[in-house]
Amino acid sequence: MNKEKSETEKLKAENERLKNENKRLNFILDHIGACVYTNDTDGRYTYANHQTCQVFGYSAEEVIGETDEKFFDLKACDELRQNDLIVLQTGKRIEVEEKSVMEGTEEERTYWSVKLPIYDENGDITALCGISSDITENVQIRKEIEEKEELLSLVLENIPSCVYMKDAKGRYQYINSNAASLLGQNAENIVGKTDKEIILSYMSDETIRLDSEVLQTGQKIISEESATGNNGEKVHFWVARAPFKVNNKASGLINISTDISEVVSLKNKFFEQARTDQLTGVLSRRFLLDLAGAQLKQAHRSASQMAIMLIDIDYFKGVNDTYGHLFGDLFLQTAAKAMSLVLRESDLLGRIGGDEFVIILNGMTEQGIEIVAERLQEVMSKTYLKASDGKSIRVSVSVGISLSSPKCTLDSMIEKADKALYQAKTDGRGCWCLAN
Ligand code: GH3
Ligand code: MG
Repeated sequence: MNKEKSETEKLKAENERLKNENKRLNFILDHIGACVYTNDTDGRYTYANHQTCQVFGYSAEEVIGETDEKFFDLKACDELRQNDLIVLQTGKRIEVEEKSVMEGTEEERTYWSVKLPIYDENGDITALCGISSDITENVQIRKEIEEKEELLSLVLENIPSCVYMKDAKGRYQYINSNAASLLGQNAENIVGKTDKEIILSYMSDETIRLDSEVLQTGQKIISEESATGNNGEKVHFWVARAPFKVNNKASGLINISTDISEVVSLKNKFFEQARTDQLTGVLSRRFLLDLAGAQLKQAHRSASQMAIMLIDIDYFKGVNDTYGHLFGDLFLQTAAKAMSLVLRESDLLGRIGGDEFVIILNGMTEQGIEIVAERLQEVMSKTYLKASDGKSIRVSVSVGISLSSPKCTLDSMIEKADKALYQAKTDGRGCWCLAN
């Protein structure tokens, strides 16, 4: 009797254990974060976890024994059933992306489903077990990323710039066709390689160095660079290099180089125009005075002397009046050439007004000035231009000179030279005068 009782108690305990175990497994399956279900070979649900029931909108009792037709719209059911049949008929485990629309709704959701067969003790397939995770949001994000990538690629392939990306080890990850064709290579030959591996003759050492600097420091660099193309032509670029960072560490860089050759050539042209006097080709007034200011500072620093010579052609109005303005222009060009003969390499010659020129001389002394001034008079006396009437036209020049003293200003030097020039004119022209 006691033995029977203990057997019953044992069974009861075992039952209790199994019930608890079942409860535990159900709890796990209900909280697994995916739909878990089993179907028999006719497609009838034999088990559906909490999430499956929630998705179907029915209780477990209402789900069990029913087929997909009750829950999905027919089109979706067909795809699901086909996948189920593959598992049930071939015994294969499949992993598929399945799209489904619930009965009575129009919303399509995407699941990542793992489906596998369940065998009985004889090795026959008796059911299918499915685990389906809702990946609708992931698919949506993936689609958005793909669309954005497509848009980015459209932009990168069509902007008039060279664009490339490198990873942290300097390997090309992307290069647009503009950049690839400039390098005379196919993008496929470049992606995955480093500069050293490709040996790009177009790529300057400076470009490679700055790319490395961005990767090392994680700092953006904007620069102007030039390169010589295969045809020997110089190309100028405005280059923006920016790192892309992961966890605040540079994991790669993007280089956007825009061809600004035309802008640079225009800039140089404008600069050249501002620098030089259009008629004679000597320095312009503004540029000459800027340089003279810098040279005077240098003279003060080195305790040497700088001289300013103001040169004005004598009776030049008469030349214009007799032979015309065009002839006068030609004469101004000839005179400028003649004056340049007295210059040393460090001296400057500019035109500051109609028939008025300036020479800036460095490292000067009173004796040195005398030599230059006499030489200038001599050169000018030998300079002539044949006029239409066959006459050789010559002019003399009057010259006013000032020599720098410690701490003097450029303005005060010009003022003194101007007074000296006036003196030379009153002294009879064709001579020079040094200001006190
Ligand atoms: P002075 O001996 O007192 O210097 O007499 P000047 O006739 O040379 O008179 P001034 O220096 O005061 O005037 C300069 C003249 O130079 C006036 C103008 O006829 C002429 N001139 C000024 N600019 C130009 C120019 O760009 N081209 C030509 N052809 N002539 C110019
Ligand atoms: Mg004059």
